[in-house]
Amino acid sequence: MIGVAVLGSTGSVGENTLDVLARHRERFHLVAIAANSNAAKLARQVLAWQPAYAALADETAAGELRALIGERAPGTRLLAGPGALEELALLPEAECVMAAIVGAAGLRSTLAAARAGKRLLLANKESLVMAGPLLVAAVNASGALLVPIDSEHNAIFQCLPPGVRTGIAPPGLRRVLLTASGGPFRDTPAEALAAVTPEAALAHPTWVMGRKISVDCATLMNKGLELIEACLLFGLTPQQVQILVHPQSIVHSLVEYADGSVLAQLSAPDMRTPIAHALAWPERIDSGVEFLDLLKSGRLEFRAPDTDKFRCLALAQAAARAGGLHPVVLNAANEVAVEAFLERRLNFPGIAAVIEAVVERGTGGAIGDLEDVLAADAEGRARARERIARLAGNAAVRGAHA
Ligand code: NDP
Repeated sequence: MIGVAVLGSTGSVGENTLDVLARHRERFHLVAIAANSNAAKLARQVLAWQPAYAALADETAAGELRALIGERAPGTRLLAGPGALEELALLPEAECVMAAIVGAAGLRSTLAAARAGKRLLLANKESLVMAGPLLVAAVNASGALLVPIDSEHNAIFQCLPPGVRTGIAPPGLRRVLLTASGGPFRDTPAEALAAVTPEAALAHPTWVMGRKISVDCATLMNKGLELIEACLLFGLTPQQVQILVHPQSIVHSLVEYADGSVLAQLSAPDMRTPIAHALAWPERIDSGVEFLDLLKSGRLEFRAPDTDKFRCLALAQAAARAGGLHPVVLNAANEVAVEAFLERRLNFPGIAAVIEAVVERGTGGAIGDLEDVLAADAEGRARARERIARLAGNAAVRGAHA
């Protein structure tokens, strides 16, 4: 039995992980689950799974969780506060940690799992974008195994030869082709983007995901974050990563080798495939995902992304080239701007405008240690909030949809 801790269990990736684990109770044992403040959903998960540990980062919600559970899960220890997530990442009973917290909030627990030598199933791309060099060094120093959960990076991982170390490109790898659905506004004229609503941005054409990543897909920032992620995970330069818009979301990414071979991974757009792959690797287990029928899939199309229309992608490409603390500031500004968009304080093009204004003010130098990362993150957030507050009087950016 392999012990698993699922951090972010109430989210989209977290729930998909529990779905896969439920199909393999003879193989995996759910040791711990954790979330931020959704006491009702975590309580339901505790009662269904009776894990040894459950935690909420939000202390007030943790009180609510205790009340909801009462005496009905006597074997579950309930923890509270942001530090509890790191504690769960370090549990000796959990050989495998699913890092599925969204945003910078997942950084410390992801790093803790990497330092503890776990099998780290990495969905929380923001931790890699922020502290990539530290995370990759921690994985290689501790002997942890990092298996990416992002469907594109999981696809690339599947197309690499066995035994590749995190952060080191295998000999003969020429390029990676990173596919993107293009999001819900792929075919929307640029002039119409100022009027799009959060509801429209959240309605992804092929994937069902959490709110933040759905907006990132709509702006193509998600593909930009994934470009940075790919460079760090596979030891590539940004020039070695070509982004292809592939509306069908069936080819999840491709790897091109020196001999002209291109290997691809295909599957239905369902996160349970990469999750099951990462849990069982190098073995294969049932994921519950519908099998592909290529005769019914129709045409598979590929085209170049429009970086003039989707400025967030251009900004992330610049951050990938600059490296150091630049991606940290970009990521922080993006998190704040996406939240403002979802709360109708900023319109859709305003997301890129805020990020651009924040990174233009400078992004610091190289990453020395975690303190540098946290300081750059705080600075990026403060600048983004300041910028959004300044724009509040500007109807053109405030959001025609409000
Ligand atoms: P969701 O928004 O659906 O879920 C986020 C999870 O993180 C919830 O469990 C939430 O808890 C928890 N969380 C949020 N803030 C905190 C915090 N401060 N402390 C502790 N826990 C917190 O996100 P997704 O599942 O969509 O995405 C998770 C990560 O996986 C992201 O980094 C995303 O980019 C990545 N990813 C997601 C994919 C998908 O298909 N969804 C695909 C590829 C990557 P609560 O419910 O209590 O708020």
